[in-house]
Amino acid sequence: MAAKRKVCFTGPMRVRIVEDTLRQAGCELVLGKPQDDFRTYRYERKELVNLIGDCPIVYPSGRDMIGADILDSCPDLQAVVKSSIGIETVDVDAATDLGILCCNSPTVENYMGVAEATMGLIVALFKRLKFNEAFMRNGGWKELENRGTLMLGKTIGIIGVGRIGQNVAKRLGAWGMKVLGYDPYVSQESVGDLGIKMVSLDELLKESDLVTLHVVLTRETRDMIGLRELKLMKPTAFIVNTSRGPAIKEPDLIQALNGKFIAGAALDVFAHEPLPMNDPLRQVDPLRLIITPHNIGANPGSAEAGQRMAAQSILAILDGKIPDTIVNPLAIPRWKERFQS
Ligand code: NAD
Repeated sequence: MAAKRKVCFTGPMRVRIVEDTLRQAGCELVLGKPQDDFRTYRYERKELVNLIGDCPIVYPSGRDMIGADILDSCPDLQAVVKSSIGIETVDVDAATDLGILCCNSPTVENYMGVAEATMGLIVALFKRLKFNEAFMRNGGWKELENRGTLMLGKTIGIIGVGRIGQNVAKRLGAWGMKVLGYDPYVSQESVGDLGIKMVSLDELLKESDLVTLHVVLTRETRDMIGLRELKLMKPTAFIVNTSRGPAIKEPDLIQALNGKFIAGAALDVFAHEPLPMNDPLRQVDPLRLIITPHNIGANPGSAEAGQRMAAQSILAILDGKIPDTIVNPLAIPRWKERFQS
């Protein structure tokens, strides 16, 4: 049975590649509250269900949560397609049970952009760039105790050895750094040629001079780094998170930075985004904490590439095909039973 060519955009944005591509392909679009104008808007359940209506596809913005209650209340919904890599705002398990396909958009522009930006944060922390810049602007000049660290031979721990983690490892290897990895779903054999030594989480935390997080956000990875883990790290070590904010317990990180259990941190992602003006993270000594507004990996082509990939996934599903970008292949049999027979 052919699906209606109707797609719901919960938070349309200024970059309109998906919209334009779908319109050209003869799709009808249902547009919700623009994300650019209503950044922190929260739909009521009923409002979102009504918006999705009889659309077979929803394209949610990063602002909007697609929980089990929404999925369950939209009987015509066949797929949720996102233009980002992270898809934790969708209840993928519930979608799988219902035979609803979930797709993300892991473009090279996106994951390489984050890998490159992570390298920038690593260098900034080791070389004390932010500290020395501020020191000089305040009238200071070179001081022995303000020197950076030689990165050659230092150990970096990568938590989450997927696309971004592996590309960070490649770059670190070229700089003569040792790389440890922790990822329960990645084998030593599959990453051995990248020079990554897979170890336990505790060993990685104890041995690393800098720990960098590249996990997907799941029940397992939410809050995976708390005070216990931060206290295992060396007092001279740094932590970087460009993955998802809730992977680190922020109050514990604040305690670790203020208590000097670790030397510093760099965060591009936060539990609450946009980071509220009164968030306690903003009170941490800025010379020990670098914060960037979840854009450090973005580049002029990244949003566009994600939208192009998402548009292709949507058009494939509307034609009854399974796109490569599917993250829940277990949903396929039920999807076929419900929507393709
Ligand atoms: P990926 O799926 O390729 O890799 C994620 C890795 O996390 C996988 O190898 C997976 O096995 C691993 N993992 C799962 N559970 C784990 C656990 N309990 N412990 C350790 N590892 C675990 O994803 P990716 O493309 O490399 O993206 C990584 C993260 O970066 C995602 O959270 C994504 O949302 C985020 N991201 C952030 C930005 C940004 O702008 N800051 C941009 C793109 C992606």
